[in-house]
Parts: sequence; structure tokens; C-alpha cells
Amino acid sequence: MSRSTPRPAGDPHGMQRRGVLFVLSSPSGAGKSTIARKLLAAEPELAISVSATTRAIRPGEEDGRDYHFVDLDRFRRMVADHEFLEWAHVFGQRYGTPRAPVDEVLASGRDVLFDIDWQGAQQLHQIAGGDVVRVFILPPSMEELHDRLLRRATDAAEVIDARMARAASEVSHWDGYDYVLVNDDVEGCFERVRTILAAERLKRSRQTGLIGFIRHLTKAA
Ligand code: ADP
Ligand code: 5GP
Repeated sequence: MSRSTPRPAGDPHGMQRRGVLFVLSSPSGAGKSTIARKLLAAEPELAISVSATTRAIRPGEEDGRDYHFVDLDRFRRMVADHEFLEWAHVFGQRYGTPRAPVDEVLASGRDVLFDIDWQGAQQLHQIAGGDVVRVFILPPSMEELHDRLLRRATDAAEVIDARMARAASEVSHWDGYDYVLVNDDVEGCFERVRTILAAERLKRSRQTGLIGFIRHLTKAA
């Protein structure tokens, strides 16, 4: 994976920096897709990683945009060919992050957004360590989570029950994340997520061009 990326614009002084692998996780229905959509619209230097999954396509979803919908044989071949950065079983299906597009985005000087679960966040952290920023989004209450799943109206009643049954165990992984936020008001939560991304981009450890800049600065003095 590319670790040091060119930063021609958008950064202070046009300095080079390492790309951020920005992970958003939450129990299903807490609002991570909503926050992710807003973040992508607001941040042109951020690109979403489109996962592969064996689950069925839902109404309104598009193959290649929301997921790469693949059958089990194809998914297994992708695993065997080391095409995934990480993959996991979620809700009885398989989900994985294709490696090549992530490398391409980082090499082009942009950051990557991942909508993946705690297992994926853990694996990415093992692979890419300090380049990964993990954000966990909580609902204000379990009642509100249930209401949001009902209002979203994408799932049958038994699917919603299964998501609710899994929610508590997903929340139990909160301490595997760098930031934990409550999505009470969507605009407020979005602004907090955007602030985290902005601050993480500015971390000293990511400013790979800083040494050259300091050398130049002190030589000129
Ligand atoms: P997830 O991606 O975590 O499964 P979604 O982003 O699909 O969740 O959100 C679930 C539903 O809740 C959607 O209908 C969305 O519009 C709604 N929603 C998201 N955030 C909020 C919020 N802060 N307040 C009220 N409704 C919200
Ligand atoms: P859904 O089927 O509702 O789109 O997603 C179910 C869960 O799978 C969500 O928690 C989502 O974050 C997670 N997920 C989606 N893609 C990936 C992936 O590539 N890897 C992992 N580990 N989890 C994923």
C-alpha cells in the first residue's frame, strides 16, 4: 500500500503527507451511510472504498456504486487471490475491501473512506496502523435505532429484528475505535466527523514534507 502520497493542493504550504484511511462504523441504522454521503459530498479529496459482498442487492442500490455484488465462488476466488485488504462475515454474508482501488486512491494523493464493521476496522489497523483513523457512531438510544431502521424502510421486519439483536454486540466493540460519537443531530454529528478528518490530516506524523520544509526554513534563517 502506498504510504506517502503527493499533495499538490489543499494542504497548508502544498506539503506532502500520508493519506488517511478513515473508517466509519456503527450498528446498522445509526446513520453511518448518511454521514458518509455528506462527508463525500463535502470533501473532494476523499474517495469511498466500494466493498464486495455476497449479500443480495437491495432496491435502490447499484452494483459498483454501493457494493460489488458477487456470488460466493467469486468472493472465495478473490480471497484466494489476495484481492482483499480485509474481509469478514457479517449478518451471515461475506464482505471485503478490494485492495487495488485503495492503493490507487492513496497514490493519487487522496484519502479513503471505509464503511466497514469492527472486524474490518481491526484488520485495517493491523495492516496500516497509524494511517488508519477509526470512528464509531452510536445512536442516541436503542429505541431511536429501531425507529431509524423502520423509517429507512429498506428491510423486512425479521431483518430489522436481526439487526437490533446484533446491535448490542456491535456496540460492545466501541473501545476498538479512536473516536466515539453519538449521532443525535445529523448536522452536528457530520460536523464533528469532518473536524476529526481535518485534524487528523494535519497530524505531524502525516506531514512527510515537513522535514524538507524545516530544513529549508532554518537554512534560510
Ligand atoms: P447505517 O448506514 O448506519 O445503517 P443510515 O445512514 O442508513 O444508517 O441511517 C438509517 C436511517 O436513519 C436513515 O433513514 C437515515 O435517514 C436516518 N438518520 C440518520 N441519521 C439520523 C439522525 N441524526 N436523526 C434522525 N434520523 C437519522
Ligand atoms: P449492509 O449489508 O447493511 O450494507 O452492511 C452490513 C455491515 O457490513 C455494515 O456494518 C457495514 O459497515 C459492514 N461492511 C460493509 N462492507 C464491509 C467490508 O468490506 N468489510 C467489513 N469488515 N465490513 C463491511
